[in-house]
Amino acid sequence: MPSFLDPVAGFGVSFRTIFKRVVTEQYPEKPHTVSRRFHGRHQLNRHPDGLEKCIGCELCAWACPADAILVQGAQNTEDGRYSPGERYGRVYQINYLRCILCGLCIEACPTRALTMTNEYELADRTRADLIYEKQDLLAPLLPGMEAPPHPMRLGEDEQDYYLGAGLVSANSAASGDVPRTPPAAGTTAADPGTGAGIGPTGARIGQQ
Ligand code: SF4
Ligand code: SF4
Repeated sequence: MPSFLDPVAGFGVSFRTIFKRVVTEQYPEKPHTVSRRFHGRHQLNRHPDGLEKCIGCELCAWACPADAILVQGAQNTEDGRYSPGERYGRVYQINYLRCILCGLCIEACPTRALTMTNEYELADRTRADLIYEKQDLLAPLLPGMEAPPHPMRLGEDEQDYYLGAGLVSANSAASGDVPRTPPAAGTTAADPGTGAGIGPTGARIGQQ
């Protein structure tokens, strides 16, 4: 192109831009919608009766490349039961000053206790406020759930919970009299918070 046309070419860019539709994000009045796969704040999930899925195994903490997770497990007792099985996460912290939201911790979790939500508003006023404690991360109690500690309501042991027998039992209580049986091969015990679940073989299904 001849050099005397350079200014015209420059204005060409301006004119093209003038007639484009302007996109103005109205944040925070209208929060931006993110993809369902977006890695936001973590959540500690519950079983359908309200017991916690976390068994305090610390695998998430060991998987974390930023050393952002602190877990201290403790023993369940019959008078103080927080999860099915032997152990639960007594202390659970995530330090969002360190976390890079990579998701390796949720990959490592054997019980799908730990997942990530789409929540991205994690700014706060002090450094201490960005260390989230267990009560900040626990999933809310949905209808039909009871805050732990309480006895196992959905089966005799943790196998019943992870194989979904308790879920079948809970559904039958709402809809009629159906015997408690594990789900058929290929079906899942859905995670009430995410729709994801543990399959009959223990494999994770429907991960975010
Ligand atoms: S998302 Fe990544 S950095 Fe954050 S706690 Fe999990 S493993 Fe650690
Ligand atoms: S969140 Fe999962 S990996 Fe982490 S301690 Fe609990 S059960 Fe283990």
